[in-house]
Amino acid sequence: MPDIHARFSPSSADRLIHCPPSLVMGEQFGQESSVYAEEGTEAHSLCEYLLRKAIGGEPEDPRPGMQYYDTEMQECAEGYRDAVMEIYEQARRECGDAMICIEQRIDFSAWVKQGFGTSDCVVISSGKLFVIDFKYGKGVSVSAEDNSQLKCYALGAYSVFSPLYEINEITLVIYQPRISNYSRWSLTTEALLTWADEVLRPAAELALSGGGELSCGSWCRFCKAKAVCRKRAEENLALTRYEFANPDVLEDDEINSILAQIDDLVRWAEDVKDYALSEALRGKEWHDWKVVEGRANRKYTDDKKVAEAVTAAGFDPYEKKLLSVSAMEKFLGKKRFQEIIGCLVYRPTGKPALVSRDDKRPEMNNPSVDFA
Ligand code: SF4
Repeated sequence: MPDIHARFSPSSADRLIHCPPSLVMGEQFGQESSVYAEEGTEAHSLCEYLLRKAIGGEPEDPRPGMQYYDTEMQECAEGYRDAVMEIYEQARRECGDAMICIEQRIDFSAWVKQGFGTSDCVVISSGKLFVIDFKYGKGVSVSAEDNSQLKCYALGAYSVFSPLYEINEITLVIYQPRISNYSRWSLTTEALLTWADEVLRPAAELALSGGGELSCGSWCRFCKAKAVCRKRAEENLALTRYEFANPDVLEDDEINSILAQIDDLVRWAEDVKDYALSEALRGKEWHDWKVVEGRANRKYTDDKKVAEAVTAAGFDPYEKKLLSVSAMEKFLGKKRFQEIIGCLVYRPTGKPALVSRDDKRPEMNNPSVDFA
């Protein structure tokens, strides 16, 4: 669930640790909701509902009021419930009074002034604490390793439960079903507390007071100031001022350096364009720019009347098309999809893509190199 009102929220911890001034800079911009955020909120409500039912509660079913509910969401939430229950059952086998907290408000203000948030799920047993987070997004794969958001939840849970349970080991878990990402990472309580004192607390003090240095990186993607931040603009525009050794032809090393920055550059350029358009639609006048109507395809005013008219004229107005693989999977649900047509689905070789060497995918065989 989104962390409402906290200035230094767990979900922004990674960015604020890397770039403390982004807190105050971002506060000039409102909180804009998106389809993805609303869909994620609904998926979280379903996860909460299924999990509360699984542990014997009688929660209210949120599905009747949902806008984005479908088989995919149901399967993802069931998968999350099963993954959490597996951890909880194991904890109960190891410790008679293991505990599970669902959608628990977490307070880590002992390290960050007014720091709080809501954790999807926390499981506590003797010696162990699990912090489990459900991610419904599929744009960015989230790793549990050294995850600042989950470490903030772990701190809050540790504050509450350490007087009752001895906690030596903390395991952070990310369950991100739509891209088959299940990430787990453990650290000692001592390491968590050292991080809280040496990294989190000083970064939060800087962020909350508007201090610190601007710093660009992957975290900019979630910054509200990303389109207008001068530091980010300067870093991206620096590429265009690149002083090339040979004025006419790029050397291999130069292409290498450009490739390393090009994704950030494209993302930044899109952010600036999106921001400028949304401001113009709010009434802002840009000196050399204006809003015009984009190209649009012709559409029927009334589908039903068109179908009736064409049928009456003796033609068939419909085409019958096989659903795409993802649409079919969504339609049938993952299990039925596997049962019915799993053996009829294959993955063709993808189009070659140039990615950095640290990408996890294996290098493709290059037929021209093989031939040579
Ligand atoms: S865009 Fe990046 S560098 Fe600029 S304030 Fe945001 S996080 Fe910091």
